[in-house]
Amino acid sequence: MLEHERVEIVVGERSGLPVIVAVHSTALGQAVGGCRLWRYRDWRDALDDALRLSEAMTLKCALANLPLGGGKSVIALSPESELTPERRRSAMLDLGDAVDTFGGTYGVGEDVGTTAEDMLIARERTRYAYCLPESEGGAGEPSAPTAEGVRMAIGVTLERAFGSPEVSGRRVGIVGLGQVGSRVARRLAADGAELLVTDIDPSKRGLAEELGASWADPETVLGAEIELLVPAALGGIFTSDSVATLRCGAIAGPANNQLADDGVADALSSRGILWAPDFVVNAGGVIYGSAMEMQGCSREDAVARVGAITDTLEAVFSAATEHAITPLAAARRVAHERLRTADPRRPAEA
Ligand code: NAD
Repeated sequence: MLEHERVEIVVGERSGLPVIVAVHSTALGQAVGGCRLWRYRDWRDALDDALRLSEAMTLKCALANLPLGGGKSVIALSPESELTPERRRSAMLDLGDAVDTFGGTYGVGEDVGTTAEDMLIARERTRYAYCLPESEGGAGEPSAPTAEGVRMAIGVTLERAFGSPEVSGRRVGIVGLGQVGSRVARRLAADGAELLVTDIDPSKRGLAEELGASWADPETVLGAEIELLVPAALGGIFTSDSVATLRCGAIAGPANNQLADDGVADALSSRGILWAPDFVVNAGGVIYGSAMEMQGCSREDAVARVGAITDTLEAVFSAATEHAITPLAAARRVAHERLRTADPRRPAEA
């Protein structure tokens, strides 16, 4: 059954690229979620991403206690499509037009493959483009507050799994050294973690050397004997098969949609691996951005609000223990309860 409130797929008038906007829920307020600009073998894979990522945004906003719903947009490049600067600009104008048809029920921001400057272009066609550059009075790049939230979540996860939040001397694997992963790596290295890192982009090896971290290929890091694994690349990294090869004690990282399907949460639990739900761990960006651009908070207040991730994750882990369910089921339960209070027509979570 389609749970989403509205999904639009258009071929951009200027760029010729498929632009997909999915609004999962506006029960708690305007649906928000970034625009992903990515290559897909088939535009239907992009649609899948938009549907899954927008649902995750609903859960993320509900758990972060934000007055916001969940949405997401995707601009789908084929493996061969060329993206010249002109075509990129056209795609952002097309995105702005598509977003504007939602009349404010959806607000777009940046995500993997898009930037604050792209949002400024989309803003030429809609007032519902956020995450604008700081020079334009926007919240700017959300990776720093996202990484801050990830660092807090790592402390909570380590405490639950090993009885202490300390990272010093712990073996930590990081998959993906992009905007968020590189920041988390720097923080953990400064805090004394023993890092094993990877990225499909070999140019990231320089950062590993700078931080004194070991470098390996992604499969090696995924199968390494470490205490904590930090997924900071793209989604779908854990499948029922790949979980069988893991040798870590806990997982907490920013990558969206880490589990290929919900059954993977059970597989992780049966292997005794504590998984911190991604949509709790990576909420720092949306907490910070919405506080700055929608609620008019100062930068300091917006940063301080990211700290709520600690309480939320502790509550999720406690609920999981209390009800003998996975952290995923516990997080969904809390989120659905909040959604049901806002919209009593929603069915109760099983
Ligand atoms: P990014 O594009 O800057 O970084 C991703 C990195 O992962 C890149 O360096 C890329 O080369 C690498 N990578 C891709 N596939 C890989 C693979 N198979 N193995 C190893 N490395 C791989 O993205 P980001 O902004 O750092 O975001 C990382 C993840 O966190 C994404 O899933 C994103 O959706 C999620 N997230 C980011 C934010 C944010 O504020 N940027 C907020 C919430 C969630």
